[in-house]
Amino acid sequence: MKVLTIHHLKQREDDFCFGIEGELALPSLVCDSKRCGCDRAFGGLNSHQASTTLMVRDLDLTYDDVVTAYLAYLESAGWAALLRTSGGDDEVLRYAQDMVAEALAFASNYPDRQVVRVKFDRKTDDWKVLAA
Ligand SMILES: [Zn+2]
Repeated sequence: MKVLTIHHLKQREDDFCFGIEGELALPSLVCDSKRCGCDRAFGGLNSHQASTTLMVRDLDLTYDDVVTAYLAYLESAGWAALLRTSGGDDEVLRYAQDMVAEALAFASNYPDRQVVRVKFDRKTDDWKVLAA
């Protein structure tokens, strides 16, 4: 299945990548600052670090594999504990499934090995993914 992964590609002066090449990448929470870059980067599930460029990779993973990886990320980052306070384990799973569905939908629009960029639209509260 095609997934989004961290990719090191410094094409532009304002590109950054602190993640690990090839690790799974998913949308992160976006803060209010317009300067920190979280609104134009996805985070790596293992490193917890972000990148402005991602690569679509067709990997031997199932939907459940990706959800499990994202759940592990939520636990290790501390977000699962926060989510549990409002809706228990169901809320954690629902949040993970929503994020994974969004990321997989983005990846499905591009061929294997396509480099993409992400941008959070603060007006629509939605991520956009575009070919780099
Ligand atoms: Zn931020």
